[in-house]
Amino acid sequence: MKAAVYRGPRDIKVEDVSEPCVSGRQVLVKFRAGSICGTDLHFYRGEWRWMKHGRIIGHDACGVRVDTGERVVMVPLVYCGKCYYCLRGLPTYCVRGKFMGLTSDGFFAEAIAIRPGNLIPMPDCVSDEEAAIVEPVALALHVMDALKPNVGDWATIIGQGAIGLLMTQIARLKGCRVIAVDVRDYRLRLAEKYGAEICINAAEEDAVKRVRAITGRGSDMVVEAAGTVQTVQQTPFLVRKAGKVALVGESKGYLNLEDADDALFFTTYISPVEYPLAVQLLAEKRVDVRGLVTHRFSLADFEKALQTADTPETKPLKVVITA
Ligand SMILES: [Zn+2]
Ligand SMILES: [Zn+2]
Repeated sequence: MKAAVYRGPRDIKVEDVSEPCVSGRQVLVKFRAGSICGTDLHFYRGEWRWMKHGRIIGHDACGVRVDTGERVVMVPLVYCGKCYYCLRGLPTYCVRGKFMGLTSDGFFAEAIAIRPGNLIPMPDCVSDEEAAIVEPVALALHVMDALKPNVGDWATIIGQGAIGLLMTQIARLKGCRVIAVDVRDYRLRLAEKYGAEICINAAEEDAVKRVRAITGRGSDMVVEAAGTVQTVQQTPFLVRKAGKVALVGESKGYLNLEDADDALFFTTYISPVEYPLAVQLLAEKRVDVRGLVTHRFSLADFEKALQTADTPETKPLKVVITA
């Protein structure tokens, strides 16, 4: 069968690989559609190098269960349910855990062996293309739940890529007033469509000054979803005293906390817990991912898809891969 295999930086190609062995506790899923994530691009660019050579990548996808014919969303996190972290509701950090597409074989393959517990049935009203983009919805839910906003709080979301735009949508569902920050106007126009009250192009004006002028005391919460050291370092100057900062895009950088008394900073990653709600919100049309799809490729053209996702001039948001 065909699969997208990591061979090193700038070297992820579709290869012929053997069909997956299905163990007693797994079922076979035929790939229907998936999407490229920023994480895949970190590996493609060689920014992260810890992935094993020969690994099938991809961790956001849907398919069809071969045994039942059901359409399903695949959850990439495998966890034991018994370790210190699992018992504290933090399966992401399971000591026996695996992240499919990163630490074990992933979804960009014609067939995937996976446990039924990692499958969420897809309602008919959710298209394959929508079900290809569930991970960033789940992440946005995870982050906004962790921030525990009050109705009317200012949420400043730095970076309006796919994840930032979903943060904007979920923050609006939570009753926040959203300040969207990016350096590209096409993204800010989408942020406005998704309910951002204020849009700031940080290439044209000083985002910190503007946020402080709008909010008076600083933003109640800040989400860093741009993924740069520079934007991480801005966060203490954007947040109000005793506010909250979620670092989602990047976690390196020097934090000068002299003006951020009592503020809470945390990094966070995906968690499997929010996946069912993410699928439900897509089915109810309360969260939109269709507007995030900028490019579509078949699995056979995977390399072209990666190159497109890695080329800012193509204005990529979500690049979808289909069977
Ligand atoms: Zn991802
Ligand atoms: Zn565990």
